Order: sequence, then structure tokens, then C-alpha cells
Amino acid sequence: MIKAKCPVCGGEVTLPDDVMPGEVVEHDCGVTLEVVKDGETIKVKPLEGVGEDWGE
Ligand SMILES: [Zn+2]
Repeated sequence: MIKAKCPVCGGEVTLPDDVMPGEVVEHDCGVTLEVVKDGETIKVKPLEGVGEDWGE
């Protein structure tokens, strides 16, 4: 398993070993995250553009 840190809530995000950059995962806090590769490090960032409705 690969562990990354959620940039939104700071919690741990667990990813499968064979996760590919560009994959989209949902975190427990409700945010949608995109997997990105930074050198040899797998990270996640909030997925932009695909709008969850934040409820105005
Ligand atoms: Zn989170």
C-alpha cells in the first residue's frame, strides 16, 4: 500500500501499490483527489473542474 496525505483534511490516504497517476480517488472527508507523481513520490491533489456541489 502507498500512503499519501490528504491536502484538504490532512488525513491519511491509502492507495494501492499499482495506482497510476491520473487516477481519481475519493477520500473519507468527501473530497475527490487526483493521484499525481512527484519524482518517485505518489501524491494526491484536489481534483479541480469536476464539481462536487459544495452547497451554496
Ligand atoms: Zn481528506
